Formats: sequence, C-alpha cells, structure tokens
Amino acid sequence: MNNGIGLQGRRVLVTGGAHGIGLAITEAFVAAGAAVHVCDIDTDWLTALKVKLPAVHQSVADVSDEKQVDALFAELASRWGTLDALVNNAGISGPTCAIEDTMLVDWHKTLAVNLTGHFLCTRRAVPMLKAAGGGSIVNMSSAAGRMGFPLRSAYSASKFGIAGLTATWAIELGPAGIRVNSILPGMVAGERQERMMAIKARSYGIAQEELRQRMLSKVSMRRMVSAQDIANQVLFICSDAGAAISGQSLSVCGNLEHLS
Ligand code: NAD
Repeated sequence: MNNGIGLQGRRVLVTGGAHGIGLAITEAFVAAGAAVHVCDIDTDWLTALKVKLPAVHQSVADVSDEKQVDALFAELASRWGTLDALVNNAGISGPTCAIEDTMLVDWHKTLAVNLTGHFLCTRRAVPMLKAAGGGSIVNMSSAAGRMGFPLRSAYSASKFGIAGLTATWAIELGPAGIRVNSILPGMVAGERQERMMAIKARSYGIAQEELRQRMLSKVSMRRMVSAQDIANQVLFICSDAGAAISGQSLSVCGNLEHLS
C-alpha cells in the first residue's frame, strides 16, 4: 500500500510510539521518509526502539502529566520548531470489572491517560502545527468509542470522549489547515489483546478461546485486524492523499458489530 505520499521529511510525534500499534505507526512513518519523535512512559520499550530505529528521536514522557508534556514539547520546539503531524496514540486498558466494582482511582487514571493525555499533547502541538502552515492530528480511539463495552466502563468513556474532542478540534482548527480525525481499531491481534481477553474470560468464567470465538463471531469479516492495518490508515490520513479528510471517526475493525 503506497500511503506515504508527501510524508518525506514531515515531522511527526507519536505518543506511546515504542510498542504495539504505536510502534507500527512509528515504523511506517520512518519507512515513508518522515522524521519521527516518539514519547513513551516505558523505558524498556524505548531502549528497544533505540536499537531498532536509532534515527528516531525519543523522550520518556507520561502524556497525562502536564509538566512532562511541557518538557517534551519544549524539546520538540527547540529541535524542530514546527510539527506536521501529532498521533495521539498512548492509551491504557483501564480496569476490567463491573461498574459497581470500579475503583475511582482506576477511573481517574484511565481518563487521565486516554483523554487528558490527548488534550495536553494537542494543546501544545497546535501552535507548532500552525507554525508549519497546517497539519494533521490523529486521535487513537477504539470500537469501544462507538458502542458499549461491558466491564470496561472507564475505557469506553475515555474513547467516547475522543469522539467529542475530534469533532470539536476539527471545527476549531480547520481554518488553520489542521485536520483532525480519529481511528477506531477493533480487535487488534497482539500481546495486549491476548492479555485483555484472558482477564475478561476469567471474569465471565469461560475459556479464553471461547471468548475469542464469541468476539470473532461479531466481526463481519471474522478476523482480527493487525497493527499494520492501523498504521496504514494513520499514514493515509496524514499523507497528501488524505488532504480532504477531517472531523472523521474511521473504524478499522473488519466491521465489528458488537462488543462482548
Ligand atoms: P500497548 O499497551 O501495546 O502500547 C501502548 C504504548 O503506550 C506502550 O508503549 C506504553 O508504554 C505507552 N503508554 C502507556 N501509557 C502511557 C503514558 N501515560 N504516556 C506515554 N506513553 C504511554 O497498546 P496498543 O494495543 O498498542 O494500544 C495503542 C492505542 O490503541 C491505545 O490508545 C489503545 O486504547 C488503542 N486500541 C488498541 C486496541 C487493541 O486491540 N490493542 C484496540 C482499540 C484501540
């Protein structure tokens, strides 16, 4: 898929870009010739990234911490001055439990990373995107941002919140040439998906394989998606080929009909 049109030399920040979907996005931008800066909270994943892609700049930063985000953008401003794309990818799963068992601390933590993190990074990125004459913001949501997700109240609330941010920022920032979209992945094959299915299968008292088949039976295409599928979509939206796309919530999920 040639979705790197016009990305050569573009300056891109990928949050949570050292592992999982974020890493696939980072690799795809690098392959398209973009200059990439990754921030992540996990120093082990960052060390592995440094070995794999030494040209990628990196910072240890928690997107939910205002001071750390400010320091991250101060570094970006001094190196690059301007920014062409922000990928708000960092996110956590939050608690898997019934609403009556959900702890306030877990609720706050999930919203802090998944929603406040998008706000803090976008707030600092906008002046740099404007200085570049426009650009692209991609917010990583989830199928849980368009339908209910039992036992995942905090996660689903945070991802529905992203729909509001995306719609609002697209209107606010469109006149400045900044496009804002969100991607809604479905079941993404990988370590995190397996971990979450194991927790949920235990909550339901069923085998993980049974839960997998139950979930896949609700995907029209009967398949999980890959991190590469998500990265392809992010690149397309940020490229010149996506220049007319803004304010959209784009599902990449094989048509997930229902979450269980
Ligand atoms: P992951 O756990 O594999 O990777 C997330 C990365 O973000 C890690 O490198 C982690 O260290 C980093 N991170 C976590 N908290 C951070 C913080 N506070 N500040 C900075 N970095 C932080 O997860 P993933 O599956 O790759 O998920 C990436 C995004 O995609 C998330 O927003 C997630 O909600 C979304 N998503 C994932 C799936 C899926 O099935 N995996 C489905 C839908 C949506």
